[in-house]
Amino acid sequence: MVGEMLSRGEKVVACLAPSFPADFPESDNHRVLVGMIRALGFYKVMDVAFGADLVALEYRKIIENKSGKGFITSDCPAIVFYIEHYHPDLVPNLVPVASPMVATARVAKKLYGTDVKVVFIGPCVAKKAESDEVDDALTFIELKQLFKINNILPDNVPLSDFDGPHSGKGAIFPISRGLLQSVNKTDDIIDGEIIVTAGKSNFKDAIKEFEEGAMASAHLELLCCNGCIMGPGMSHKNGHFFKRRLISKYVQKKLANFDTFFWENELGSFGDIDLSQTFIARDRRLETPDSQKIEKILRDMGKQTAKDHLNCGACGYDTCVEHAIAIIYGSAESEMCLPYSIEKLHKSIIELNLSNEKLANARMQLKQSEKLAHMGQLSAGIAHELNNPLGVITMYSNLLMEDIRKDDPAIKDLELIVEQADRCKKIVGGLLNFARKNQVRLSENNIVEFANRSLESVVVPANIKVNIESMVKNPYIMFDSDQMMQVFTNIEKNAIEAMPEGGTLTLTIDEDNQHLIVKFKDTGTGISEENMDKLFTPFFTTKEPGKGTGLGLPLVYGIIKMHNGRIDVQSNCDLTKGPTGTTFTLIIPRTK
Ligand code: SF4
Ligand code: SF4
Repeated sequence: MVGEMLSRGEKVVACLAPSFPADFPESDNHRVLVGMIRALGFYKVMDVAFGADLVALEYRKIIENKSGKGFITSDCPAIVFYIEHYHPDLVPNLVPVASPMVATARVAKKLYGTDVKVVFIGPCVAKKAESDEVDDALTFIELKQLFKINNILPDNVPLSDFDGPHSGKGAIFPISRGLLQSVNKTDDIIDGEIIVTAGKSNFKDAIKEFEEGAMASAHLELLCCNGCIMGPGMSHKNGHFFKRRLISKYVQKKLANFDTFFWENELGSFGDIDLSQTFIARDRRLETPDSQKIEKILRDMGKQTAKDHLNCGACGYDTCVEHAIAIIYGSAESEMCLPYSIEKLHKSIIELNLSNEKLANARMQLKQSEKLAHMGQLSAGIAHELNNPLGVITMYSNLLMEDIRKDDPAIKDLELIVEQADRCKKIVGGLLNFARKNQVRLSENNIVEFANRSLESVVVPANIKVNIESMVKNPYIMFDSDQMMQVFTNIEKNAIEAMPEGGTLTLTIDEDNQHLIVKFKDTGTGISEENMDKLFTPFFTTKEPGKGTGLGLPLVYGIIKMHNGRIDVQSNCDLTKGPTGTTFTLIIPRTK
């Protein structure tokens, strides 16, 4: 827009904000910058610091004629906007004086006619929307872009000074407390009558306290940024104090040759300028939602009681309630609450770990099932191949036993052949059992009676005590009773063998909604950790050679799997960790 005005040949007055020394530190001579601006085609270049001088005098009158009512001064459009929209009750407390930018625009129109266009150049984006008395506003960043496009360099322009009127202490305006320094009112800060704050959170707190009445008679001087030298339109990202120093140096140099008499005359000649400004309440506050809705949102964020309201501000809202209200209006999300997000993350990690654990278990079971399936096929093949020759050996050795005389020296060898052939038949029988492909034949069983029957099928030595404890309300359950009998007797035999010195075997029968749960707890020697992983591996046995086939527990595992059940084992073989023993738990679903 500035470019269009200039290219149309309109008379455009540039009003340069007094913060320029902080963004053009390369040149300590302001005439270079003024010359460059003029080279862009501006008709006049005015110093907004003069507008600041006029405004400061007006402020001074108000401060000195204090009526007892508290008031707010700010030449910052962001602050004015905030009060008009979010604290409309404080609009009457805003001092009705125009900003230095608007004051300078009015001076320009008085000097050069109402037809001239006015463009503000400064550090502020908010100035673009401040007033329609200014035709456009450029930030320093945009000004530098214009210089670049038009190839305007410090060395290729003639030096030039501001067009009058010339400013005084108003040049100090852009730093925080600059206004007060320019009217020599810094002493009032000490007696607490004037509160100067700058920066987003400070000005909000100050306005809130002022509205609550804590500073009813005070004078608030507010800036949104930490002084305009930290405005968003500055191109240099130097620190606050460095920029402050640049402004101070510029002002010191300027005031060294300052002609107070001449300046006061200049001010006097513009004494008739209207510096009034109207502010309007434009209430945009959101209605406070229903308290139940707020409480629900807070509860969902884990804030059950008042002590959970940390009000830490990490979400960008001052309080948890403000954050909850913003969520209700759709302008915020629960995840913006840092403590809530951290808690949620912790929970996710725990859930993830649990899922990983479940996945690992499922993988292990799948591996075991695959292994068993392969073993089953292999076992079935071997068993069928061995069954016939074994039958022949058994039959002929028994025939020979019948024919041979009892005193024949070969009878011992024959007896050994018969005994070992029987043993081989048992192994083959076990293999066939393990490899069984037959379907589960379900029938209804009373589990308590079934458990008692299973114990009658095993030989229980005198030094072993057996208990059955039942907590089930419904003892009836469907399973394949032949297969399940093998499961029970296998586990019971193992338990008895694990207690050579005697002990107790306790069968506990319990249930949950969908399962029957049977525990076989022995007080035996326990299973070592390294053997726990191999328990269900076919042909793995810890028994002496010739005593175990290593097919008992794989068979148990296979049968329970065929019933869609689960088998868990817990064991301790280390006396230093507590009583030794093993507990097998069968979890069998109730099939309808
Ligand atoms: S304090 Fe910031 S927002 Fe306010 S006028 Fe200055 S630069 Fe603009
Ligand atoms: S981050 Fe969470 S705890 Fe902190 S104020 Fe916001 S809502 Fe409250």
